[in-house]
Amino acid sequence: MKILLASPHGFCAGVVMAIECLEKAIELYGTPIFVFHEIVHNKLVVEGFRRRGVVFVENIDDVPEGNHLLYSAHGVSPEIRRQAHARRLKTIDATCPLVSKVHLEAVRFAAAEYTVIFIGHDGHDEAVGTLGEAPKQMCLVETVDDVDRVEVDDPKKVAYLTQTTLSVDDANRIIEQLKQRFPQIVGPHKQDICYATQNRQDAVKALIPEADIVLVLGSRNSSNSNRLAEIAEEAGKPAYLIDNAQEIDPDWLNSDATVLVTAGASAPEAVVVDCLEHLKKNYGAVVERRPLREEHARFQLPVELRRDTGISSNESSKTRFTDERLANNPIGSFGRNEAPISTRSDR
Ligand code: SF4
Repeated sequence: MKILLASPHGFCAGVVMAIECLEKAIELYGTPIFVFHEIVHNKLVVEGFRRRGVVFVENIDDVPEGNHLLYSAHGVSPEIRRQAHARRLKTIDATCPLVSKVHLEAVRFAAAEYTVIFIGHDGHDEAVGTLGEAPKQMCLVETVDDVDRVEVDDPKKVAYLTQTTLSVDDANRIIEQLKQRFPQIVGPHKQDICYATQNRQDAVKALIPEADIVLVLGSRNSSNSNRLAEIAEEAGKPAYLIDNAQEIDPDWLNSDATVLVTAGASAPEAVVVDCLEHLKKNYGAVVERRPLREEHARFQLPVELRRDTGISSNESSKTRFTDERLANNPIGSFGRNEAPISTRSDR
């Protein structure tokens, strides 16, 4: 068996930051500590924190008044922030800055009286949070067919935004359809699909012609992990989304197979290592690492935690945005929760 290990794979900068936030919050404030939604969409990560006394809630009313509450990496709507404020909760915002950037774009388009068409997945935490920024002026499309059903007040004042974890190809197909229907539609200056999602998809696409099957480490509710499996299936290769090596069915594999292994942005490296060890031990697999691109992006902890940990602004300014794609993204030159927006449709 040959393993092609796609790279980049696994944790992105937003997931690293969100997990660091929760670790730091446990250290500072103790447990129980509350998190609105799963901190990241990974079953093993969430179960690990739950065992340590973290309580994941879907409803603000489930958090006792005055307690600490973290917002997950996927972000929340203003209404959730309002409810938390009303309960006098001490909130810590672990929203990925690249999700916050899309929120800000939604706010700015809505303030300029655009109808904002959000391309995303219905019910996904990130989509719910972003749509909540301007619920009366935003609508959701999931597919090319959905575009024909959209109703807008003024076809000349329409904008689109996307969830950060979509398939790049699917999103482009939907955007093309939107441009056909609304020729004057405007969009973000740069792609909203984040550097990590794009890099993981590109790495799979580069290796897929050589693979017989694909194993994607990630949880069922992880959007970007599902997209990796879909890319493999669209290329005609069987793909399996698994939380860990124990879920591998021996019927999927044989000793002559070339297996592409990758991991979604919320899957810990430990499960990737376990998976490789399992395949080496049981199938004599040899691992070939094929890095496509390097990532060096890091996001700073939110201000609430920096204040309580005494991290100076000098230290926080060491945060780097040096990933090749991220460096070209305007968010890189702006602070947390602050990003520029263009009303030109330039993609
Ligand atoms: S996948 Fe992208 S948007 Fe989501 S947390 Fe990671 S870096 Fe942020």
